[in-house]
Amino acid sequence: MDKKTMYKLTYGLFVLTSRYNGKDSGCIINTAGQVTSEPNRISIAVNKANYTHELVKASGKFNLSILSEEAGFAVFQHFGFQSGRTADKFDGYNSCKRSENGLYYLTEGTNGYISATVEQTIDLDTHTLFIAHVDDMEVLSSSPSATYAYYQSDIKPKPETPKAGSKTVWRCTVCGYIYEGEELPADYICPLCKHPASDFEKVNA
Ligand code: FE
Repeated sequence: MDKKTMYKLTYGLFVLTSRYNGKDSGCIINTAGQVTSEPNRISIAVNKANYTHELVKASGKFNLSILSEEAGFAVFQHFGFQSGRTADKFDGYNSCKRSENGLYYLTEGTNGYISATVEQTIDLDTHTLFIAHVDDMEVLSSSPSATYAYYQSDIKPKPETPKAGSKTVWRCTVCGYIYEGEELPADYICPLCKHPASDFEKVNA
């Protein structure tokens, strides 16, 4: 079995936002897709470690902002590499508006957004799969959607090549986080993007 086959699947990139008890937050996800058209339903899979997961679970409402090729790395850092538990991601963030459901969506680096209401949840251990009814949606720009492959090739900064004689490190292929050490623990989770040890690559000096 070649686990790299998974990389052949295509993924978009999205900022998932929700609001509960007066608190807003958002996170980056790459798992969203339309599942039925009549009625229009989408599915999203969200890592339970994300604070936004709690907000979606509690409120049953979310917005999905579709990231375009105009999205800069800063959007990924802002929504992907810090936790809504410790940072208010919308405090001072101006590239957003509230849609009719009262939730934020992103107005820059996005080409559309979808407002949805959760109909079913499926517990998948590390993640919850939410099946949701589409309530509203708008196209925001004609810029192509950013795929995960585009993020890897064009948005994420190119990693620096380690200097000769420096020690072996492990690099997260999703966000670029560096773990220093000869062996990466099998249960290691990237502190920035929450991806598992299997998403790290060994970088030899
Ligand atoms: Fe990472």
